[in-house]
Amino acid sequence: MNRDKIKATEEAINKVYELYSKCVLCGHYCKVNRADGKMGQCGVSENNGHVKVSHHLLHFGEEPMLVGEEGRTPHFGSGTVFFSRCNLGCVYCQNYQISSEGLGDTVSIDKLASYFLSLQNKNANNINLVSPTHVIYDILLALKIAFENGLNIPIVYNTNGYDSLGLINTLDNVVDIYLPDIKYYDSKCSLKYSKASNYYEVAIKSINAMKTQVGENVYSDSGILKKGMIIRHLVLPNNASQSYDILLELKNSNFLETPISLMSQYSPKYKALQYSEISDTLTEKEYNDVLNFALSLGFNNILAQELESKDNYLPDFDDDNPFK
Ligand code: SF4
Repeated sequence: MNRDKIKATEEAINKVYELYSKCVLCGHYCKVNRADGKMGQCGVSENNGHVKVSHHLLHFGEEPMLVGEEGRTPHFGSGTVFFSRCNLGCVYCQNYQISSEGLGDTVSIDKLASYFLSLQNKNANNINLVSPTHVIYDILLALKIAFENGLNIPIVYNTNGYDSLGLINTLDNVVDIYLPDIKYYDSKCSLKYSKASNYYEVAIKSINAMKTQVGENVYSDSGILKKGMIIRHLVLPNNASQSYDILLELKNSNFLETPISLMSQYSPKYKALQYSEISDTLTEKEYNDVLNFALSLGFNNILAQELESKDNYLPDFDDDNPFK
């Protein structure tokens, strides 16, 4: 039993409860009492010790240091749990069935803990919490139970980056690996596409705090990430995600050695067709220009994607296996 993890999780539960009771878990800072059934912008309130989960599965589509590579590193997959709803409202969300339509089953905290343990029993390299921010209180309760029952693989916090600094500071010694997005630099764009004008200022502060917390990346002898962070940036068409500004800012914030996952998988899903500038896929030239710019700035650990990957990464969450 990992007593340090249990203690850190107990402390986090108490601190997060305070943030949750006047909710400032994310950059919307709604200040509603979610413990008392009130709802903020994410539309999720206390659910009598239950949480809505869409899928829990071994996922092989995440970064290689999380899922392993066939013939090279333990290719066991990432033990991924998708939580329903979201604190951002991205018009192009590829997970919109979960994030906007609320697809999923309401499960008890004990059940969620059993999902974590069952993924470990299937040899998952880690537990990967997808869109955890708005339901972090319930997740922590379940993690505590799972740690008490032998969960000992790394915990991955897979977030859109719109987490309050207060929340990130509570997760010290609970989360092992941060996997944040950094989506936009420009406030008009973050408002237009994700309903959050302060996205960048919130995200960059939290990403810096994540780095301070976990330090340099630590890998197993076989190359699986055990502690640290990977930053994701989805390149949108017509530079709608201000990729060049973001790369410059990441360089200025000393992230040249951090793995940067430059994603080319954009596909105009959900409401994206209503916005002409993001109503098509990315061209090869657009992606390569961003990639070459990143390399010219000196990023040493860029995870590039083949452009065809957009066809492989689009999930259908109505299916038991959304990533077939
Ligand atoms: S998680 Fe964010 S959107 Fe949801 S109530 Fe809290 S501050 Fe508001």
